[in-house]
Amino acid sequence: MTTELNEDIRTLVDGLNFAQKVERSLSLIGQAHAAHADGLVVANSLGKDSCAVWHLAKRVSPGIRGFIVTTRFKPKQTVQFMKRMVARYPELRVYRSDEPIPDRLYETDPDRCCEILKVEPTRRAIREMGVTCWVTGLRCTEGRTRTDFKEIEERDRGLIKLNPVLTWHEREVWQYLALYRVPVNPLYGQGYRSLGCEPCTKITTGDDERAGRWIGTSKCGGECGIHTRPLKIDYQI
Ligand code: SF4
Repeated sequence: MTTELNEDIRTLVDGLNFAQKVERSLSLIGQAHAAHADGLVVANSLGKDSCAVWHLAKRVSPGIRGFIVTTRFKPKQTVQFMKRMVARYPELRVYRSDEPIPDRLYETDPDRCCEILKVEPTRRAIREMGVTCWVTGLRCTEGRTRTDFKEIEERDRGLIKLNPVLTWHEREVWQYLALYRVPVNPLYGQGYRSLGCEPCTKITTGDDERAGRWIGTSKCGGECGIHTRPLKIDYQI
């Protein structure tokens, strides 16, 4: 997987040890928080990477806020885990879309389904929470679609995106979660490595962590769109 990465990122992925990566992530979040204050918000997907990022952010400043985008298709274990997280962290806001959609849109047009159920609520969260810097759990070794990101990006003008664990390996995420005893979604215990909506997520093995996402569609192993589509296009509405 790392052969596809640019040289600068590969040097960090392979050259830093676990402790150095943790320090780097804390420093990235700390610097961004100093610059953006309350405008810095964590996008918490409730996956393992987000759980690590949420924990790191809380070490930087316990008051840092976050948002969760949920959908009508999330597995019941994910919904239960979300309720536990929100009860523990009231500064986590939940966004979802209740817009009517055709039956099985996730099979016929998964891009449209994700646009309505995931991307639109993400745009709404960013607008309503006054986000100037959003923090994600994206990692460059997760799969073929995640090799071309940077730790600090500005894909939408005026909206910084911080990917503080971009250079972490899957093993290092689990190392961090174990060391700090961070609770995770129990679905990982069943063998899932990347979690999403129930109809679009399968258990797989192999190099590509995201290979179990959208199997059987053109989107297989791909992205829901929040990392690839503009997030500020409806600011003027
Ligand atoms: S992951 Fe599947 S069910 Fe969920 S929003 Fe995307 S296409 Fe729809």
